Amino acid sequence: MFKRVSRLKRKRSMMFPVLLSFGSNLGERHKTLDSAWYALGQTDTIQAVRLSSLYETEPVGGPTGQPKYLNAAGIIHTTLSPEELLVVLQKIEADFGRVRTERWGARTLDIDILLYADRIVELPMLTIPHPEMLHRQFVLEPAHEIAGDWVHPLSRKTIAEHRQQFLATPLDSYSTK
Ligand code: ADP
Ligand code: MG
Repeated sequence: MFKRVSRLKRKRSMMFPVLLSFGSNLGERHKTLDSAWYALGQTDTIQAVRLSSLYETEPVGGPTGQPKYLNAAGIIHTTLSPEELLVVLQKIEADFGRVRTERWGARTLDIDILLYADRIVELPMLTIPHPEMLHRQFVLEPAHEIAGDWVHPLSRKTIAEHRQQFLATPLDSYSTK
């Protein structure tokens, strides 16, 4: 008899690469992001592949006087469908104490799905690619750090190209939707 030892977790079927965005502007922001990232990797259906550096940013939109955000991007591999993944992410948001009071208000943890492989999803509760990702520097910078060569399935441009384009465009030409 011998024991089969595998350091890899057993994962069912096909794994899809997904780019996530993380933000926190309340409580112990650094700890919240670290713990959420760790918790994601602990699930059977998700491999936590790479987390970007943490970026401290000024809040964009929403009520005035909010504290600064810590933002990050993460690459995961998952067997979950986009809808199933959203449910898991919302559970992790809830576990880490996020209270939804006002839209764009302060929050302990926000996790958004930016890209799911080359999938385009248009459901009432889920839009992928995330519609705001190309207009937000706090999303583009961390995403560029770890996924600069990922291609946006609608524009067919890379994140690196979008970041360049964003940086070259005067701020006032963007509307805040
Ligand atoms: P925001 O992320 O815009 O600050 P919320 O986190 O409160 O706001 O999200 C509001 C809703 O956005 C969620 O209930 C979710 O169903 C929906 N949603 C649509 N597309 C996405 C996506 N790509 N990633 C995460 N949530 C999304
Ligand atoms: Mg969100």
